[in-house]
Amino acid sequence: MIRLDTTPVKTLLSKSKIAGFDYVINPYVGCPHKCIYCYAEYMRKFSGHSEEWGEFLDVKQCETPLKPAKLFRTNVMLSSVTDPYNAYEKEYGLTRKLLKQLVYCQAKVHILTKSALAVRDIDLFKQMYQCEVAFSFSSADDSFRQAAEPRASSVQDKINALKMLHEAGISTAVMVAPLFPGITDWKKIINFTKPYTNRYGFDSLNMRPAFQSKVLDFVEGHYPDALPLMGDIYIKQDTSYWTKLAQEITQYCHGQNLRADIYFGSFASYSGE
Ligand code: SF4
Repeated sequence: MIRLDTTPVKTLLSKSKIAGFDYVINPYVGCPHKCIYCYAEYMRKFSGHSEEWGEFLDVKQCETPLKPAKLFRTNVMLSSVTDPYNAYEKEYGLTRKLLKQLVYCQAKVHILTKSALAVRDIDLFKQMYQCEVAFSFSSADDSFRQAAEPRASSVQDKINALKMLHEAGISTAVMVAPLFPGITDWKKIINFTKPYTNRYGFDSLNMRPAFQSKVLDFVEGHYPDALPLMGDIYIKQDTSYWTKLAQEITQYCHGQNLRADIYFGSFASYSGE
């Protein structure tokens, strides 16, 4: 049972430091999906929580509505340090309330989630000035998902949700992220999702020193064969793996006429469209 609380905030909108987005909205503090590699874990101390990451959730309460004059035709992302469709969203509906306001604001909305609950809001996505719903997959293998992202939707549920959104005419994306060296079978993810997505994004596993040992312990316990490669990359700092991988992805996607944006290292994005 996670610790649930409410937290009053003055605004839900943050200026974005992420390229391509003007604003970010994180409706919740914390994320019950509890991904083993989550870089947002710093929010735990930042928000004064002593519970483990994934074991608390603060529902933000804000009296001030979003301002159309400020958000008109801006790029707004949900979310960067939580999943807007965590399981508690079913009960609180905070993301849905915000999406209704964003329809009114005529913002360009970018959803990033690991949850099939996103299909609940197809009616609102259809009314948006512009909208993209992206699902992230770090593996096509559900046993990896169960071990590394224990409360996120299953691989099959995410694929079904992607299909539903695509068939409803919503622009969709598949984020192959984070790429776990020696573990993520990115070609398999592409094969499973190709008919239902408008584009792919690829990002590497970014291991901050604070949680490097946690992730390496996880790899050693579940995927010991991948450990030597990860040691080369993260301990010996050999970056040649990423250079070769970016080239391979670019070539593969180009061959299949798929749009692929690569976000890691110094690689320029490639667009096959
Ligand atoms: S879904 Fe995203 S924010 Fe939530 S725990 Fe996983 S990586 Fe972190």
